[in-house]
Amino acid sequence: MGFPLLKCVKCGGEAVVNLKPYGLVLCNEHFTEFYEKKVKEFIIKNKLIKPKEKVSVAVSGGKDSLACLIALDNLSNELNFQLTAYHINLEIGKFSKQSQKTVREATKKLDVPLEITDLKKETGFTLPELIKINRRPPCSVCGTVKRYLMNKVPRELGNEKLATGHNLDDILEFTVKNFLNNNFFWLSKLKPLLPSVNSKVLTKIKPLFERTEKENAVDVLSKGFNLPHLTCPFSRSSEWKEIIAKIEEWKPGFKLRFIKSFQKINFPVEKLNYKRCRICGELSSSEICSFCRVTRKQTGNLQELKNRK
Ligand code: SF4
Ligand code: ZN
Ligand code: ZN
Repeated sequence: MGFPLLKCVKCGGEAVVNLKPYGLVLCNEHFTEFYEKKVKEFIIKNKLIKPKEKVSVAVSGGKDSLACLIALDNLSNELNFQLTAYHINLEIGKFSKQSQKTVREATKKLDVPLEITDLKKETGFTLPELIKINRRPPCSVCGTVKRYLMNKVPRELGNEKLATGHNLDDILEFTVKNFLNNNFFWLSKLKPLLPSVNSKVLTKIKPLFERTEKENAVDVLSKGFNLPHLTCPFSRSSEWKEIIAKIEEWKPGFKLRFIKSFQKINFPVEKLNYKRCRICGELSSSEICSFCRVTRKQTGNLQELKNRK
């Protein structure tokens, strides 16, 4: 991880990271100081967390969600909020086993209470089974399931906010793709803080909105946490991420400047006519919510569906 020819600009020690947008080459200790200061300033500036609030952090086991867990745990005393962690076991073979192990180890090390939902117990299906019966892109099925559970389970446990580890690279890719496809509804929701619209909806916060995936990975590793080496078998490389990375290489600081300017645009928030899902009672834009449709809850006969695979 080190840069043998580069020295930390603060102390002259061995550098572990070169942060070109900031003109900073830093050692482990000074990177940690930089990173924690940036996250704290961002949370305070955007009023992401109020004193005494109950915050649940969604932890998949990847570098970004782990970085989010560590950063919030580090600030929970100082900013006076209660932190718990939430993990969904998607049951994608070895990948999920390793992810869950990482999450258990990290939360134990930090002493943060952890809640886990097993998808199979909750719905009768693993994620690969749901993908098979829905015949939709894997990440679309996965996104439906995760969005629903991350909103419902932590809320029912008494939390007021859900924190996720979305990083600058993901946010920029999402912004470019949705902008090019005129999906302004999704862009209107892409905020560091998305307030609740209803008692059935948790307020969502993204404390790492301006942190890159590289910064998150360096932070997790430099603090002695393990990162899983397996990636989800359904993940695909993103062309847009590669294009954005090339621009960043030519113009260091592009990503951050772009997203900061883009956030100043106020996309009209489309008022959806929310109803209660006829099956589960959660908020939905149609009679039956997408989670109940994807998990075939409306049929009431899971076995029949399993036989049809
Ligand atoms: Fe889910 Fe897709 Fe991520 Fe795999 S890559 S965990 S299927 S969203
Ligand atoms: Zn240093
Ligand atoms: Zn439903």
